[in-house]
Amino acid sequence: MKVVDETLLDRARDHAVRFLSRLPDRRVGVTATRDELLAALRVPLTAPGEPASDVIDALATGAEPGIMACAGPRYFGFVIGGSLPVREWLLDLFDLPRSSGLGFATGCQMANYTALAAARHGVLRRVGWNVEEEGLQGAPRVNIVAGAEAHVTIYGALRYLGFGTRGVQRVEADEQGRMRPEKLKELMQHLNGPTIICAQAGNVNSGAVDPMREIAGIAHKHDAWLHVDGAFGLWGRASAQHRTLLDGVELADSWATDAHKWLNVPYDCGIVIVRDAAAHRASMTTTAEYLEQTDGKERDEFDWAPEFSRRGRGFTVYAALRHLGRNGIEALIDRNCAQARQFAEILGRDPRVKILNDVVLNQVLVRFGDDDATTRTVISNVQKEGTCWLAGTTWHGVAAMRISVSNWSTSSEDVERSAAAILRCIPA
Ligand SMILES: *Cc1c(COP(=O)(O)O)cnc(C)c1O
Repeated sequence: MKVVDETLLDRARDHAVRFLSRLPDRRVGVTATRDELLAALRVPLTAPGEPASDVIDALATGAEPGIMACAGPRYFGFVIGGSLPVREWLLDLFDLPRSSGLGFATGCQMANYTALAAARHGVLRRVGWNVEEEGLQGAPRVNIVAGAEAHVTIYGALRYLGFGTRGVQRVEADEQGRMRPEKLKELMQHLNGPTIICAQAGNVNSGAVDPMREIAGIAHKHDAWLHVDGAFGLWGRASAQHRTLLDGVELADSWATDAHKWLNVPYDCGIVIVRDAAAHRASMTTTAEYLEQTDGKERDEFDWAPEFSRRGRGFTVYAALRHLGRNGIEALIDRNCAQARQFAEILGRDPRVKILNDVVLNQVLVRFGDDDATTRTVISNVQKEGTCWLAGTTWHGVAAMRISVSNWSTSSEDVERSAAAILRCIPA
């Protein structure tokens, strides 16, 4: 695939030069109203997508009247921004409740943090405790439940939120790393009071997705808040072929994902989605400590994510989604998943290789020979050899090579070349 398109970069550069050279003389304030801007930029997300050059032009000319000249010499104010069309497109693409709150954060770490802050607000409000005002000191105890293989960033978020990590009740996982629903059911019978359950769509090693429909049924029965960490896995919802794997994800209360992983936009771009938009906003807003009503019209980004000052993250997502269209996004997901299977197929044919996981998404776990040392040697040899790069992990007690396929420009020839290099790196 063509990775560098110079005409596109020139085009973006030309827009930037034009904008910057006008800055000293340009009207500092915006010239378009919010509705006028939305009218220019709020187009339907098409199936076939649009040429990248058209999207760059549309974004540059459509957004220009709404850009405050804050990089100019006579700007003495502050910066805010909006991202309504992107919010609608994403909720549609993931098929999540359209009235959800959505915010952009630096990554999935902070998206998990934001979602769990909304969860903390939601479950404590139900028992009459205003956590934003009163804090956690003296608050009713909140039960935190997580799958045994929850991502480390869930624990980071729990620390920042004052829950700590020691009290987390871990639910046993199966051989693919999925939370066992029967174990969750058992645990929930012994828990009383406000409860938050952290599930996962896309195990960082195996790509496995927790059995979400069953988990959601148990969570709802106990009036618990169900959060889903779907850093890369949530994107499977955009593919007809992979949607069944993520069945029931829509029943959760909050979701965290990344655009800088599978959508291939630059760092840093995480996304948080919360079914109860009022809880989302109440947990993040700094303007009105306890606003339960969001009119859904005027939108300040800092009401939906932890940062106060921030760069405009939504626009890269806007450009990528509009260019790819639904079909382009689906093709990206399906292609990378097929390439993961291709890796497993080529490598698995070699008698010295064992594929450790069911390749259900874009992740492949590979073991070489009979001991950890051989696997570690192969990984180190591959990193030195240079054809491709991948890292090691520990999977259920044994060393493994972890292959994550998520780049838009990876071709099946790249997979063939890389797999051949990996096999060449097995010590004799
Ligand atoms: C990558 C990842 C995260 C953390 O995302 P960042 O964008 O690095 O903050 C969280 N959960 C899972 C499952 C991940 O794969």
